[in-house]
Amino acid sequence: MIKNPASLYVHIPFCKSKCPYCAFVSKKDSKENILNYPDLIKREFELREIGFASGALSIYFGGGTPLILPPESLNDLIGFIIEKASGPKTSEISIESLPSLITDEKCEILAGNGINRVTLGMQSFNDGVLRDIGRFSEIKYFETAVETLLKHGIKNIGVDLIIGLPDDGYNAFVDSVIKLASSKIKHISAYFLKIEEGTEFESKMRSGDIRLPSDGRTCRMYSKLGKILFNAGFNRYEISNFAIPGFHSVHNTLTWDYRPYIGLGVSAVSFDGELRYNNPVSLEEYEVGILSRKPVLCSVEKIEKEIRVNERIMLGLRTSRGLDLSVLKDMEGIDLLKHRGTEVQSFIKKGWLKITGDHLILKTKGILWLDTILQNLFFDKKFHKFL
Ligand code: SF4
Repeated sequence: MIKNPASLYVHIPFCKSKCPYCAFVSKKDSKENILNYPDLIKREFELREIGFASGALSIYFGGGTPLILPPESLNDLIGFIIEKASGPKTSEISIESLPSLITDEKCEILAGNGINRVTLGMQSFNDGVLRDIGRFSEIKYFETAVETLLKHGIKNIGVDLIIGLPDDGYNAFVDSVIKLASSKIKHISAYFLKIEEGTEFESKMRSGDIRLPSDGRTCRMYSKLGKILFNAGFNRYEISNFAIPGFHSVHNTLTWDYRPYIGLGVSAVSFDGELRYNNPVSLEEYEVGILSRKPVLCSVEKIEKEIRVNERIMLGLRTSRGLDLSVLKDMEGIDLLKHRGTEVQSFIKKGWLKITGDHLILKTKGILWLDTILQNLFFDKKFHKFL
């Protein structure tokens, strides 16, 4: 179905509790469902006749909270996937975790199966903020988690942060970034809080029960974060992603490069460069599909050329390497400088963009203007002749 997939994603949709901002398909579930789940993933892998000739370039276990699986199931699932999907070309095998779930026993399983990258979902290092989102206890486990991972030889450790959580103060945020920058962490992802439909935060926003920091404050936080991390040796290789040289995420980079991928599990998405295949978001529906050996892909979306081009522009400009204009031309037949030359030149004059070789690159000064830049470079219906 998907020719030459570059990466494999495995979704484990269970969590200890639901975070109020989270729109991922994840929930607290019964022990029975959690125990049965690895077998469903293994069956899906076989049913879809997935094959990676020389191994997936990247394998990623995400969620949800993958380490919520009991040790035996975790070992069984990871072992199966790695045996089937890894090979000489596999350079990165990642898993997400809460710091509190990192134990010697789990690390032995991770390291023993070749997992070489772990992302710790912290979101904030501010006690008050974490208490409000129900994750207070994670801070006290953070340092122990890092030491335990290092003890087991897993050096590629990342942290996820959210900028703009309710009541997050500028000074407390800066203090925590300073501490993080001097820790043994190699990668930091920092995304702005987005209030998603159907989340607890969305209803609290409507009823006025939460107070978010102003846009001005979150922009200052982002800008300070970039400066602190830069001084500590991190490179900003994508707008929201910072890494010590040599520790960038292979998995994310393949997605930004628009490479085909396979997703396994509830709500997982697969992409062949033109079609997106969606697995059911309900565990029940997914399970029924797998057990009856019927295709579990509940919908297929054709990604029209107009959308593909816009996604490539957006993803490319977010990276520090920039948008590869020759790839856009070769893959989609679009000469951006011919069709949007005036707009590109005006952004270059403002100091927001630059061209280096074949790449159109967003400069630091242009980061906060990215929406304006994209609105002017994107194609819409009135530019059909352009396509
Ligand atoms: S732990 Fe992660 S996936 Fe689970 S509810 Fe919280 S944010 Fe969502």
